[in-house]
Amino acid sequence: IKNDPELGPGWAYCANETHYQNEMDQYGDQTEISNCDSGLHAIDHANTRFSKNCIVNGVGNVVCARHTFVGKTSAGDLKKGEKYCSMDYVLLSTLVNVVVMLLVVSYDIACQWNINFQSRIAEFPPAMRLNLNNISFATVIPKFHILGHGKKCQSLWSLNYRHWMGRTDGEGVEREWSHINPVAMSTKVMGPGARHDTLDDHWGAWNWWKIVLMGRHLETKLKEALPMSKKHHALLNALSATFPAGTVAEWTKMVNDWQEDTSQPNPF
Ligand SMILES: [Zn+2]
Repeated sequence: IKNDPELGPGWAYCANETHYQNEMDQYGDQTEISNCDSGLHAIDHANTRFSKNCIVNGVGNVVCARHTFVGKTSAGDLKKGEKYCSMDYVLLSTLVNVVVMLLVVSYDIACQWNINFQSRIAEFPPAMRLNLNNISFATVIPKFHILGHGKKCQSLWSLNYRHWMGRTDGEGVEREWSHINPVAMSTKVMGPGARHDTLDDHWGAWNWWKIVLMGRHLETKLKEALPMSKKHHALLNALSATFPAGTVAEWTKMVNDWQEDTSQPNPF
């Protein structure tokens, strides 16, 4: 197995294996205690869902939540479930040399992962340390997955309540699995190098098809979004008109204050 090198380690979607594994070796067993009141599989089994018969039990991958593009050097092997160090690595690796002003992370266990993310960043090599103080940073839970979380998480992490999200559902990060999951039936019996090369090939094809079909796709979406935007504005205005103007202004201020600073009282 050691004699199965990758064609281009870290050249495409899989992160550089040597660098990634060296980083992972520095983390012992991270037991991540959940304080979320959800019954979500990923939270309960982040530390336990693995098979002793496999060297690798899956991949962690960073995908654009809006357009479902797979990011560069965005995939790392998971050995014992979704470890935070693996997920942190692939996120930071995707963002190396990328200029971001506003970063929104959509993740089904964002309510837990987010808690110590900033302090965990400090443990990565300097080139990977994202300075969260220089950017606008938010975490959200995808709209379908958030229904599995309790009311507290739903009021804090919903894309519906955050600025600049439009109608993004944040589930783009999950949709790509429908494409790559069946590939695992082949890659599970491959050597490590061939496996990464095959995954890179599939993700490259996925991104290429995205680019080719994006024009037609966006046109269809725009034709639906424009009239629906008008319709929903009219509905909101009609509902608002049933309340005294002072009440609406007061509620709007509560929402704006919370969106600016989530330590303010949460109106949701
Ligand atoms: Zn939660």
